[in-house]
Amino acid sequence: MRVYNFAAGPSTLPVEVLKKAQEEFLDFAGTGMSVTEISHRDKAYESVVKEAEALTRELLNVPDDYCVIFVQGGASTQFAAVPLNLMHSGKADYIVTGNFAKKAWQEGQIYGEAVKIGDSSDKVYTYIPDVGKLDYTEGADYVHITSNNTIFGSRYDKFPECKAPLVADMSSEIFSREIDVSRFGVIYAGAQKNLAPAGVTIVIAKRSLIGNPLKYCPTMLKWKVQDENGSLYNTPPAFSIYMANLVLRNLKAKGGVKAVQEINEYKAKLLYDFIDNSAFYKNSVEHRYRSIMNVPFVTPDAESDAKFISEAKNAGLVSLKGHRLVGGMRASIYNAMPVEGVEALIAFMKKFEKENS
Ligand SMILES: *Cc1c(COP(=O)(O)O)cnc(C)c1O
Repeated sequence: MRVYNFAAGPSTLPVEVLKKAQEEFLDFAGTGMSVTEISHRDKAYESVVKEAEALTRELLNVPDDYCVIFVQGGASTQFAAVPLNLMHSGKADYIVTGNFAKKAWQEGQIYGEAVKIGDSSDKVYTYIPDVGKLDYTEGADYVHITSNNTIFGSRYDKFPECKAPLVADMSSEIFSREIDVSRFGVIYAGAQKNLAPAGVTIVIAKRSLIGNPLKYCPTMLKWKVQDENGSLYNTPPAFSIYMANLVLRNLKAKGGVKAVQEINEYKAKLLYDFIDNSAFYKNSVEHRYRSIMNVPFVTPDAESDAKFISEAKNAGLVSLKGHRLVGGMRASIYNAMPVEGVEALIAFMKKFEKENS
């Protein structure tokens, strides 16, 4: 039996996509081979990469002067790739709004002056600093943000208006809400939250910014090289890109990002409204910054939290344990989580509250 999987990543994928992959697993596109066996130079496979790029461009309305590339190493490798491609003057700004934002900032310090211009750790990352009031560094090569904080469940309601190119880690929310790509210099996202199985990372970058990576930037991390080679500089994570392509087709068939955003907002509202109206459950994120993808919450005590997680699992609602830095619970309700999954969670929460308060 399939369960409702609330994991933060790797996370639930659309059932239709899993079935499609299963159906053609032994014979991909009439080749008589699995997509995991075929050469990445084969026309049949190349067309997968091309289609995934084209669908990304279409679904996110990516301007023509931006590249869309698929790379390896997870979002964490991009923490290094960002300075290695962009840090020409040796300094850049970072807004630290969560654990991954902090890691990106720390990685930036290896390559130059990574200036922390905003930090919400004073309130356990339950808010986003006012981006209109930050002291942006004159001449910085870029401003780095994490648009959605997977662990703490907060997100930017509006993005910085800064002179330097804006670089955003969108791992846990890409394709979940409409964004204006032209406002960003670079967007990157590990796929295993909202797009595909682990193993591939998508990078969308303005081409005019990526022509001159630092001298010691590893070839594999040069966005320019990946772009010039259509993401096929070396052997790509073939299966993950194939799965990403199926997910993107599925997203298009569902009406695209705008349609899915409406459903995501509906799901998040159901859950937050229930939590806010309950005296038993609590979510501490400032309302305007609440993520529509990751919803952390607690019961009145840690003992009940543990009981909640184990009883929920028995009820077919799995991976609700919060991140070890936060404790409590976290429901990740990515694009592939159906409304029924959120309704089932709320019904369980009601029952648990009744029995335990
Ligand atoms: C999961 C996550 C990461 C880390 O991704 P990896 O692919 O494991 O390196 C980075 N940033 C954000 C926002 C994430 O959610």
